[in-house]
Amino acid sequence: MAECALWQRFGSNGSLVREFLRKLVGDEGLKILEAVPEGEVTDEELAKRTDVKLTEVRKVLYTLYDCRIAEYRTEKDDESGWITYWWRIDFGRVKHLIMQDIERKLKELQARIERERSGMFYQCKCQRISFEEAAAMNFWCDECNMPLEYVDNEPMIRQLEEQIEVLERWMRRLKRE
Ligand SMILES: [Zn+2]
Repeated sequence: MAECALWQRFGSNGSLVREFLRKLVGDEGLKILEAVPEGEVTDEELAKRTDVKLTEVRKVLYTLYDCRIAEYRTEKDDESGWITYWWRIDFGRVKHLIMQDIERKLKELQARIERERSGMFYQCKCQRISFEEAAAMNFWCDECNMPLEYVDNEPMIRQLEEQIEVLERWMRRLKRE
């Protein structure tokens, strides 16, 4: 896919922003976003530029509107009564949303790593539980009829650390640019 000017404006965060938006509005949505000019544009114009059906364009725009990435104003033709929707995309808001998203994920990961670091875990075929819970069950799971065995959670902790590191790096980059 050709490098679009839209993603360039996010510098080294381009692919991150693109991925975030793709999850939100899909490939069709990206096509529409890439066709958005500076300033305002109508949904009809976007449909024309992208060859995407007008109903589909509107769906994407309303999804963006729900996240406050897109906003619109209406203009009524006095003669025909026809209402035109003028849309504007706030790309600065996208970065803000990604940062919020990352912050939420970081909090989750930090809570998880805290739990892993401070506890001991046991598992059978069907579940992974704390030492206290396993002891209360006499280290035997009646669900799958298997012993509850100690798990070394170092690999999991390392994996969580890596995930946190990646997200923190993204965060730093987003704040910088
Ligand atoms: Zn089990």
